[in-house]
Amino acid sequence: MALYYRKSKMNFTPSYISLLNSGEFNERLKNLDQLMANCTICPHGCQVDRKTVETGLCKSGINPIISSYTLHYGEEPIISGTNGAGNIFFGNCNLKCVYCQNYEISQNWKTEKKFETSPEKLAEIMLLLQSRKAHNIGLVSPTHFSIPILKAIKLLQRMV
Ligand code: SF4
Repeated sequence: MALYYRKSKMNFTPSYISLLNSGEFNERLKNLDQLMANCTICPHGCQVDRKTVETGLCKSGINPIISSYTLHYGEEPIISGTNGAGNIFFGNCNLKCVYCQNYEISQNWKTEKKFETSPEKLAEIMLLLQSRKAHNIGLVSPTHFSIPILKAIKLLQRMV
């Protein structure tokens, strides 16, 4: 996700900017928020109310869990570029792959709970990575936190 964009020679506008401007972004956020009350955000379809319990497969509530963030130089060259990708690693991944290379930070939900934060903090991290010249924002295992991510993007619209 290219969080911010500078006017390029190609006059490219990221789609989230168009969605924010048209009001469609808010509509999607509202619909997603409703899904969380009987969670079917991902195909596991746990149907738990994540606003009150954290008993779905991802063991996550409404706030994001951010295990780590960094400029990442190990992605494909076109993504890492010269400055690095601005990766944000989310905890409590809902995929639960047995071969996960990030197991310690993605599936260790008891210890990851202490990294629970807010959409506001997530927005700040995105800005920080941008200030460090990240070429993009890489959301790693983000699906179960779609709502706080969208909230963070909305906040950023007001902050910049
Ligand atoms: S996001 Fe979490 S609670 Fe919701 S369906 Fe997926 S695993 Fe279950």
